[in-house]
Amino acid sequence: MGYREDWFAENKSDHGWYTCAKCGKKIRKSEVDIDHIIPQKYTKIDHVGNLQCLCKHCNRSKQARVGLKETTTDLAKTNGKRIVKSIKFAVKDVTEKVLKKK
Ligand SMILES: [Zn+2]
Repeated sequence: MGYREDWFAENKSDHGWYTCAKCGKKIRKSEVDIDHIIPQKYTKIDHVGNLQCLCKHCNRSKQARVGLKETTTDLAKTNGKRIVKSIKFAVKDVTEKVLKKK
């Protein structure tokens, strides 16, 4: 199963509608982009804790932005505080890598 299927298995639709994690827009399954909160270029975490549902517009504007400033809050939204603690190490690791490049 791919990560997209994993996300849909964990997150049931509201009568066929999903909600964009950024703008709150209601979207159909065909319009859903499953986004890696910590981008794939930094880490290969396909766990649902690293995934969020975005509309195509928000996903495009996220990709256009540089940096990881929203990563921690996005992870908190998806996971609640408990899982975030474990995934925070991955964020810290990624952030350090990014900072070193600058
Ligand atoms: Zn959106």
